[in-house]
Amino acid sequence: MATNEIISHEPATGAALWRGEISDVDQAVDRARRAWPAWAALPLATRIELCRRFANEVRKVQDQFAELISRETGKPLWEARTEVESVIAKVDISVSAYAERTGQKKLDGGLQGNSAVRHKPHGVMAVLGPYNFPAHLPNGHIVPALIAGNVIIFKPSEKTPAVGEFLVGCFHRAGFAADVVQLLVGAAAEGQALVAHRDIDGVLFTGSVQAGIAINRKLATNPGKIVALEMGGNNPIVVVDTPKVADAAALVIQSAFTSAGQRCTAARRLIVKASMYDALVGEVKRLADRIVFDQPFADPAPFMGPVIDNQSADQLSESFFYFLSNGGRPIKHMLRPSEDLPFVSPAIIDVTAMKERPDVELFGPLLQVIKVDDFDAAIAEANNTRFGLSASLVGGSPQDYNRFWANVRAGIINWNRPTNGASSKAPFGGTGLSGNHRPAAFYAADYCAYPVASTEMDQPRASIGVGLREETRKA
Ligand code: NAD
Repeated sequence: MATNEIISHEPATGAALWRGEISDVDQAVDRARRAWPAWAALPLATRIELCRRFANEVRKVQDQFAELISRETGKPLWEARTEVESVIAKVDISVSAYAERTGQKKLDGGLQGNSAVRHKPHGVMAVLGPYNFPAHLPNGHIVPALIAGNVIIFKPSEKTPAVGEFLVGCFHRAGFAADVVQLLVGAAAEGQALVAHRDIDGVLFTGSVQAGIAINRKLATNPGKIVALEMGGNNPIVVVDTPKVADAAALVIQSAFTSAGQRCTAARRLIVKASMYDALVGEVKRLADRIVFDQPFADPAPFMGPVIDNQSADQLSESFFYFLSNGGRPIKHMLRPSEDLPFVSPAIIDVTAMKERPDVELFGPLLQVIKVDDFDAAIAEANNTRFGLSASLVGGSPQDYNRFWANVRAGIINWNRPTNGASSKAPFGGTGLSGNHRPAAFYAADYCAYPVASTEMDQPRASIGVGLREETRKA
């Protein structure tokens, strides 16, 4: 591969899918800077109208878009279709969010003048996207940032540039000027150069904790630049007493293995009360044994596809092996049916006896099981992580859930629902290593604009009532 190129491959077949030249970061930032004043000066209604046209453009190519997402990520077609629907829905949600969270407010009037709170855009925003939702997640930054009056330089993951290019094409066909939404083709090095560029005003990042921390560090001496970090998790699903074992097991399966475990909100740790262990874990294994993992267009449709590439598949197999050789007890082995394709079977391992469990995000279909004696131990175990993205309680009473909600540290806390599948109509973000308290989804509006407080009068009117010497007038 020439060093000035990015090539993406279809995980399910290994075939090359897309190739393109690496973009010039300086040029992109220069073009964005020049485009920003005119874009920010447009009426809000015009920016919203363009975003609505964008949604229509996506609608026109919905099938083609879903197919491309499936090919480039390996996710099943049914799942890629839901991703495209989320891209379309994002526009209406972002219009409401802008009005609700960052609209204009006139405060009390009176003799001191009128007070107003209005929001201004930051300027040139760098959007760095991950591969697992290569359209929906960057779009979740791009649309609210555009509505607020920012211009965008979007660098998709180097693993999913075709989807990135397709998304940006929809913006351009909708009438967005080429310099208002730009595609920047590149890998981590181009991401770093963009983050370090003097002339960007903010970084909207969704990806791994390692990259997020690197970005945070890079911008530590630039407090004026807005940085929104949406990172990974080591999410717990806690199962306590419930008569509904089959439903509890289905929730565990959905949480751990949807998208082949490649969701930031996927459950990595099943924490189960001893009284439920045999029934629940048995049922989870039976269901996991039935999971079809296959190529994205297979008929009948698979539950999940491959992981993104062979390197990820190798890392997951190595992690499973690490658990095995450090006291883990296998419940369901991780299989790799084809050595040169990244299909891995759902795997489950009991790690209760392990002295030290690595607190890292294992981004694939690998579920660790931990047995606990009681609810207090379950809560302590759920919090035994530096991450804090999502957490679910399955079973228990309303009082148990109240305790769980109050004591577990996470940005998404659910009861009798999976850890994943969050609503775009709610804020989405985590604590600890999962984020920097700039939640996305509905609250993305908050980081796309900053508030300006003003007091205003239509004429200057002022007098100084105290502390002045008597005026001496010359005769
Ligand atoms: P990644 O961190 O490897 O890459 C994300 C983007 O950042 C890519 O565009 C990449 O090129 C760029 N990048 C990498 N290093 C960089 C650096 N030092 N400076 C600037 N840019 C850099 O993430 P990924 O592997 O593509 O995605 C999977 C990860 O994303 C998982 O950790 C997952 O949990 C996380 N994720 C989080 C959310 C969320 O909303 N919290 C959602 C989806 C995925």
